[in-house]
Amino acid sequence: MNESDADYLTQGLTAAGFTAVGDVDQADIAILVTCSVRQNAEQKAYGRFRELKGWKQSRPGRAIAMTGCMANREKDRLFERLPDLDYRFDMREYETFIQDLQGEYETDPAQTGGAVLQHGLTAYVPAIFGCNEVCSFCIVPFVRGTERSRPLTDVVEDVRRFALQGVREVTLLGQTINSYRDPGSGARLSQLLEAVGQVPGIWRVRFLTSHPRHVHDDLLFAIRDLPRVCEHLHLPFQSADDVILKQMRRRYTRDEYRAIISHARATIEDLSVSTDVIVGYPGETEEQFMLTLDLLEEIKFDVVHIQGFSPRPRTTAARQSDDVDSQEKKRRINVLLEAQRRIAEAANRRWLGRTVEVLVERTEASEFRGRSRQNRVVIGVAPLGAEVGSVRRVTIEQASAWQLKGRALN
Ligand code: SF4
Repeated sequence: MNESDADYLTQGLTAAGFTAVGDVDQADIAILVTCSVRQNAEQKAYGRFRELKGWKQSRPGRAIAMTGCMANREKDRLFERLPDLDYRFDMREYETFIQDLQGEYETDPAQTGGAVLQHGLTAYVPAIFGCNEVCSFCIVPFVRGTERSRPLTDVVEDVRRFALQGVREVTLLGQTINSYRDPGSGARLSQLLEAVGQVPGIWRVRFLTSHPRHVHDDLLFAIRDLPRVCEHLHLPFQSADDVILKQMRRRYTRDEYRAIISHARATIEDLSVSTDVIVGYPGETEEQFMLTLDLLEEIKFDVVHIQGFSPRPRTTAARQSDDVDSQEKKRRINVLLEAQRRIAEAANRRWLGRTVEVLVERTEASEFRGRSRQNRVVIGVAPLGAEVGSVRRVTIEQASAWQLKGRALN
């Protein structure tokens, strides 16, 4: 979501006559898009700010701005804490921030309103802001507000604009993307996927993040039947213990989660499934942790994102005692990572001898790198070269835990 915020901000600033520069030494303004999902994300933002202080002082007219979840949480207290900060704004009001900047800086009038940003091959497009779930550990509803779906036509329009800029793959974003409802027609995510998949130039459509409570058949059929929609579902389970799940207010049980995955896999051939897990939630015992390990072994996810519990201000979980110490959290993370490395390698080996479609992202000599529809990294060998942005078919000859490698068909 932060990458998408930064992207929209860059597009807005570029259209207002500013120029994005890759090197901060050439810049007049530095904007930090902050995260507050974990304590160390906030520390990183403060660290980056400290690094920028010298940069700001070395030339008059330079300014530092902050936005994102940490800026929303801290509000104007940030100015007391960081006297060198010039602007703080909520991404929901980024256009006002851009207008303020236009009053302060001279921009290129020839560019104003007409600039087209050169984009990469992939882009994130928000479809829902905020979240209506109230998971006990999560700060997102406090800093991003309640759920607001964007009109389907606005999302499709953004995708169309990205496609004209060279984007070939879009990922639709929302904290609970699968509860999407068009504010006017009530169209669901499955219909949004269909509309986005029809945009000329868009070859792949993905979406993040789904909540297990809102996985319905129309979505699974859309993944199965729509040719541009990739066979990938990111479905966090967080914990495999029913007591912890209840405390987390996730509103599903371990068995319900297992049933959703088996139904999804039975419906969609070659579905890849990734997930998020939290270890060391307050009170999590060794037995409860082992249930999480068991579920990993049973479901065999393609990718697992593992975090140690981090108490966040205003959340219910922050009022409980953070009683699993950081060493133990690290140990539990490592146990899961080791299991997942094995599982991912076995899962990748199943692709040996098969041919997959790869969107070419980078080329080097006679090799290219890209991702399969299942979001696996694939190295393709193509002696005659490959064009960035094209889709190539690759027969897989080697598989490790992290990537596949094979020969591209002509
Ligand atoms: S669904 Fe996700 S974003 Fe929403 S409260 Fe739960 S963890 Fe946070």
